[in-house]
Amino acid sequence: MTQPSEAMPDVAQPAALTSDGLGCHAGRDQMRAAAEAAGKTEVLERYRQDYPLPEGAGPHDQPQSMCPAFGSLRVGLRMRRTMTILSGSACCVYGLTFTSHFYGARRSVGYVPFNSETLVTGKLFEDIRDAVHASADASKYDAIVVINLCVPTASGVPLQLLPGQINGVRIVGIDVPGFGVPTHAEAKDVLAGAMLKVARSEAEAGPVAAPRTGVSERPTVTLLGEMFPADPVGIGMLLEPLGLASGPVVPTREWRELYAALASPVVAAIHPFYTASVREFEAAGRIVVPSAPVGHDGTEAWLQAVGKAASVPQAMIDAAKNKWLPAIRAALARTPIKGRVTVSGYEGSELLVARLLIESGAEVPYVGTACPKTPWSAPDLQWLQARGVHVQ
Ligand code: SF4
Repeated sequence: MTQPSEAMPDVAQPAALTSDGLGCHAGRDQMRAAAEAAGKTEVLERYRQDYPLPEGAGPHDQPQSMCPAFGSLRVGLRMRRTMTILSGSACCVYGLTFTSHFYGARRSVGYVPFNSETLVTGKLFEDIRDAVHASADASKYDAIVVINLCVPTASGVPLQLLPGQINGVRIVGIDVPGFGVPTHAEAKDVLAGAMLKVARSEAEAGPVAAPRTGVSERPTVTLLGEMFPADPVGIGMLLEPLGLASGPVVPTREWRELYAALASPVVAAIHPFYTASVREFEAAGRIVVPSAPVGHDGTEAWLQAVGKAASVPQAMIDAAKNKWLPAIRAALARTPIKGRVTVSGYEGSELLVARLLIESGAEVPYVGTACPKTPWSAPDLQWLQARGVHVQ
């Protein structure tokens, strides 16, 4: 029998969307208006608040980068035992799968195609639902991620009506339209935040799986933002004199790591644009610390903030600073950078890079970032502005 949540829903049929392939070429306002008319007002408003653009921003106030959905796709593809299914125009899916294999995905990307008829009659939702039912094999997957691209989002395909679990496999449906999520960096947060939300409700409901590597003996600090494999090791060394250890990196590489990430008492927002993820950590009662241990001043402030958040005695925090700061200062002095450097990017680490360049001796007059101002980059912004840097 068809469950109530699986009944074929009404899908709005905005006339603007009766053909395939509008997407990037259609006006953002037109697509947004169609999506709102089709019932996506709430999710778009949340994205507007989580990933704000400057007042009156036009098409050139947003980076002309790859499709934002690539951020979510990449997070899903990098997780063990996770299947990712795209729902969108064939040209978008072609570009996204091409890019993901270019970056070495080495696994299949699911695709539910549509045409004008399946889009406007609601059959596309049925096709997606059939696809997740057919794919939900708990021996292979912990989770299936379904990503609505521009056209299905604008036509209101209601992924929120998919079952939360099928055969023990979690189903996580997200809308990631280019007209609602500005950058692929922020799209990583859309999926990471959605997964943390599910994991948090599971952890609140009862016992959950422990990390594959076992539970740390010391309190951990979750690291928010993708980083190089050596970074958690280096950060772990910095934390050791505080009696702390590096925790999981979010986005995680496996579902069970989400529970460990949520269990860390302190979360370091190394990348400052993970707004939805921060919301989940704060809902779990965790303390989120801004900026990152970069350079002399950045490391000093970060050790102080992390130590305070974890209730480490000031004497231990001072000991950690005395251990690391002279070595950092000496390393910066050994490798000076001379010259003028302009920093610009859309990954979210631009302010940190500029701080390091300046401490290394470079002149940095301008830093441009596609990511919005958040509390988690505020110390970096203040530090740069105090040195006369124009941050855009
Ligand atoms: S899904 Fe990406 S590629 Fe497709 S129309 Fe939207 S922004 Fe463009």
